[in-house]
Amino acid sequence: MSKRDYYDVLGVSKSTSTEEIKKAYRKLAIKYHPDKNPDDKAAEEKFKEAAEAYEVLSNPDKKQRYDHYGHAGVGGASGGGGYGGGGMNMEDIFSQFGDIFGGGGSPFESFFGGGGGQSRGGRRVAKGSNLRIKVKLTLEEIANGAEKKIKVNKQVTCKTCDGSGAKDRSSVSTCKTCGGSGSVRRVTNTILGQMQTTSTCPTCNGSGSQITSKCTSCHGEGTVRGEETITINIPAGVSDGMQLSMSGKGNAAPNGGIPGDLIILIEELPHETLKREGNNVVYDLHVSIVDAALGYSAEVPTIDGKAKIKIEPGTQSGKLLRLKGKGIPEINSYHRGDEIIHVNIWTPKALSSEERALLEKLRESPNFKPQPGKNDKSFFEKMKEYFE
Ligand SMILES: [Zn+2]
Ligand SMILES: [Zn+2]
Repeated sequence: MSKRDYYDVLGVSKSTSTEEIKKAYRKLAIKYHPDKNPDDKAAEEKFKEAAEAYEVLSNPDKKQRYDHYGHAGVGGASGGGGYGGGGMNMEDIFSQFGDIFGGGGSPFESFFGGGGGQSRGGRRVAKGSNLRIKVKLTLEEIANGAEKKIKVNKQVTCKTCDGSGAKDRSSVSTCKTCGGSGSVRRVTNTILGQMQTTSTCPTCNGSGSQITSKCTSCHGEGTVRGEETITINIPAGVSDGMQLSMSGKGNAAPNGGIPGDLIILIEELPHETLKREGNNVVYDLHVSIVDAALGYSAEVPTIDGKAKIKIEPGTQSGKLLRLKGKGIPEINSYHRGDEIIHVNIWTPKALSSEERALLEKLRESPNFKPQPGKNDKSFFEKMKEYFE
């Protein structure tokens, strides 16, 4: 069996950038990952093949040698004894992942969700799945920040066995298959010589221990369905569609593993009178013709309650007024938006004969003829001024 060309393995060419090579490998690593393909020998081979190809092609030095001399140039000898330097065991491959999937391994973890695991001192530790909840907030709660106590249904640690899944202390023993290490090494003879691979122990699933007698409350799972009241502190300034995450507040993991995260999706409830526009809030104020002409003190709603605002005599329809700092705080900042009041002059829709007579008289007055001045800004100019 001769080795496949590394470029073919990753489906890239000699001129492909390191970044693209990384992407190509990432795809294959996810596709053939042993967690996704349990007991699939062919997938495991593909997984290792891709890792080996990536190991060479991602290293400029090795890549150059490979381009010149082929597999022989990078130690992956095509015959004879001993598996060459090009070969990699599972541990090497997994240690490479920090680089591929970024620190913390989060994209990888999230990709595999609850099914995946995390390494803790070499042993694989189960991770609980993430839990998603939606939290509905009023504009006032968004402006001031809110503390929400929410009851969630989720997998919780079994109280009877304290999450171990075992009936009692004496029913837990060290795994006989792996001797407690959680992984097994396999040595296979291939045409290239002996190949050593390390994989998760199939008996204990990597936990290193075995349960001889299961807890009756959770049937050995270590978790049961339960309810928890979680206090969520929502910072001021969040917006609709935003996601917050509380680590460790998701579903409990079996066998004392790491609990998943609680993902909180923010939903903004519409306000009765105010409309949010970024960090500003907008209020549509309707003013009678008379009040607009004579001026008055108008009462307007704000996020913090009612406020008085002066309408100057002769105020035109469409005028924008600003209440500074009466908007929404910017998240994690001291800056706060404004409330913008949009003045609409209200024209009466029905008139008594008396009112009609009064207005007929006013119709002829030169002061009642529209006289837009040169300095009156257009609607768009005003919008620009207030929102930018
Ligand atoms: Zn239990
Ligand atoms: Zn084991």
